Amino acid sequence: MSKIIDGKAISEQIKREIAAEVANMIDHGQNAPHLAAVIVGDDGASKTYVASKEKACHSVGMTSSVYRLPESTTEAELLQTVEFLNNDPEIDGYIIQLPLPKHINEEKVIAAIKPEKDVDGFTSVNAGRMQLGLPCYIPATPNGIMELIKRSEIETSGKNVVVIGRSNIVGTPMAILMSRKGIDSTVTLCHSRTKNLPEIVRHADIVVVAIGKQGFLTADMVKPGAVVIDVGIHRIEDPTSPKGYKIMGDADYDEVAKVASMITPVPGGVGPMTIVSLLQNTLKAAKGEVYPK
Ligand code: NAD
Repeated sequence: MSKIIDGKAISEQIKREIAAEVANMIDHGQNAPHLAAVIVGDDGASKTYVASKEKACHSVGMTSSVYRLPESTTEAELLQTVEFLNNDPEIDGYIIQLPLPKHINEEKVIAAIKPEKDVDGFTSVNAGRMQLGLPCYIPATPNGIMELIKRSEIETSGKNVVVIGRSNIVGTPMAILMSRKGIDSTVTLCHSRTKNLPEIVRHADIVVVAIGKQGFLTADMVKPGAVVIDVGIHRIEDPTSPKGYKIMGDADYDEVAKVASMITPVPGGVGPMTIVSLLQNTLKAAKGEVYPK
């Protein structure tokens, strides 16, 4: 049976470290780091995400503000809000919660975010800087996975890594980060057009699965002793659970755990690391570590 990579415990440890740094900043007469979030419309999942980001900010002593805009907000109005946040010296970093309503062009809005405040790492400037290995804000989920790998002391140098899924927020940045100098893995990026995917995955020492298909990664695809990082999040109806649903990942956890040497559970693996990464980026923004103030 594999060892569980306890993302919840690791994220709690990182939160304690951040809280200590924030307390130290305040002791030295500095402002607490300030994260703002913009949410447009009434999407239930988005509201839940923003509420948990707000709660996480408070838990480490950071300031948070949320701009709740109605579904009817025009693109021009949202761009005005972005402009305001770009120029407000009180705000160190901010996020625009996606998805945006259909009548708003997401790319245009993201392009308007000042890279210095783009703590989600979604702008082309931060994505480009990441690719070049320059100081940047790394998107929260890949950043969280890199922390999990580092803090679980998983050997990466010379290892074969297979990333399944090539989204801009998870798969593609993961492939870039794992191949970087210092991490030194040999990376294969698989996607929906990949041929012989199970065969490729069977060569992996580390598998990162982020495709959004529950139970996709089965035990027969995993080399015995491989490390499995499961990014998927699926809410599955379950009348036996008090909530009426359970959360599952992209891996067939019970079977894969019998083969892998280490595995992230869902929930409690990658998920808790994502919010903590946003706090880490906000702290970096406040300290001017990525873009000197
Ligand atoms: P996405 O839908 O943007 O991208 C999915 C990718 O998977 C695409 O690149 C596609 O080519 C690939 N793909 C789809 N079917 C495939 C197949 N059969 N074989 C190989 N590749 C295939 O997804 P995303 O935003 O990267 O999210 C992936 C999953 O991770 C989702 O379940 C999402 O909910 C979850 N997620 C979790 C967190 C977290 O904090 N844990 C964060 C972001 C996303």
